[in-house]
This record gives sequence, structure tokens and C-alpha cells, in this order.
Amino acid sequence: MSAPSDVDELAAFTNTLKRHLERRQRAGLRFLPKASPVLAKPVVPSEIANVMAGTELDMLAETSVAVQAANLEDLRSAIGDCQRCKLCAGRTNLVFGVGNPRARLMFVGEGPGRDEDLKGEPFVGRAGQLLTDILTKGMGLRREDVYICNVVKCRPPENRNPEPDEVAACEPFLKKQIDIIRPGIIVGLGKFAVQTLLNSKVPISKLRGVWASYHGIKLMPTFHPAYLLRNPADKKLVWEDIKQVIKVMRGENA
Ligand code: URA
Repeated sequence: MSAPSDVDELAAFTNTLKRHLERRQRAGLRFLPKASPVLAKPVVPSEIANVMAGTELDMLAETSVAVQAANLEDLRSAIGDCQRCKLCAGRTNLVFGVGNPRARLMFVGEGPGRDEDLKGEPFVGRAGQLLTDILTKGMGLRREDVYICNVVKCRPPENRNPEPDEVAACEPFLKKQIDIIRPGIIVGLGKFAVQTLLNSKVPISKLRGVWASYHGIKLMPTFHPAYLLRNPADKKLVWEDIKQVIKVMRGENA
């Protein structure tokens, strides 16, 4: 089990701090109290003391505990009854991930939809059925052979796109899941998963089908199954991408 890298920890900390400062800014805070020169108590003007108080600083610590988890069970319990972003308000279940913790192949989607929210399991609705077909009929694998999760673990209202602060809040947990599982290959399903993993704004139509690297792990960007339900003609493109994945899994060159 690998420990979180300094870079990952720093990135998680920076993301959480950024969100903290953005929330304080939205709450009307326009400056931060200066630290006093020596080790005196920090001076916090009373009118902003209650703005500074609250859960965000605790969350910095909570997120840091999560990124130190040694296995998926520890990570799930460190995430706990997550309130780190506004998606918590509408969720029925937090959808952590499912499958083989030692999987060679990992699928990363965007975020839970209605069926996933109700069941607490990723990709169990119509798009999930298509992903299961790709796995079972196309690749000869079972869902239990791979690991499946999402960028955000809670359902965005009305299945809207996850917002940047929501992605930032959840991303450390996705990174930690990948770090724990250490798959040989990640298939990124759709724009959000791929752009988040690659920290890129390049459209998925340009990225799909071309091997990329996520911290040294082979990443195959492809279209999201929900997109395929709307655009069935593009299934053949996804099949091309999946065939490349199968080749690498068989030890043939990509
Ligand atoms: N779409 C996703 O991105 N993830 C799910 O779990 C279900 C639908």
C-alpha cells in the first residue's frame, strides 16, 4: 500500500484551502487577519471571528486524514458522513465505489445519477447497464473484476454537471482510491472524469482514443456511456478505445 505522495497531499491541501478562502470570500470576508509576529494569539477582529469559525478548518484536517488512509475501508470511513461540499444536501447515499480493490482495470465516471444515489453503487442505471455490457459482453470481464467509481461521490441535483468546487472537494478521494488500487489501466468515462484526471480543458472528442498517463498509469479517455445512449452511432468509437485497452491487458503493445 503506497503512502500519499507529498505532491498529492499538497494538492489536496491547496484545493481545500482554496475552497475555504472562496467560501469566506462569498461570506463577505475581504481580508485575512495578519499573524502576529511572534507566537502571540492571532488577532481576529470580533466581527469576522464567527465567519472564521465553523467547519472548514476542521475539514482541512479531515481531508488530510482521508488522504493518509492505507486501504479503501479506511478511506471510506475517513470520508464519513461527508459535508465537505453542497452536494451533501441532496444525496440519499454517498456513492464511494465498487469492485475489486486489487483490480488491474479501473473505470472512472462523473458522478452518481438517481439510481446510483438510491442504491449507493456507481453505474447501476441505464448508463451503468451499458457499461456492464461493455465489460461483460465486450471484454469478457465481470463488474467484480474491475473497480468502478466516480469523480464526485454524491449526486448533483437533477444530474447537472459537477461544479468546480464540488470536484475540488471530492478529487482527493478519487486520487486516493487510485493510489490505493494502483490499477494498470484507467478508463476515463467522459469529459469530467478525463479532464479532472488529466487536469486538462481539452475536449473529450480530442482526447478519446489516445493513451494518456495519470501519474504513470495508462489512461484511456473515452466517451461516457450516458453520451452513448444519446449518440449510439459513436458506440463504435468506444469499442475502438476498448479494443486498445484489451490489447494492453493481454500484454500486446498499445
Ligand atoms: N454516470 C456516472 O458518471 N456515474 C455513475 O455512477 C452513473 C452515471
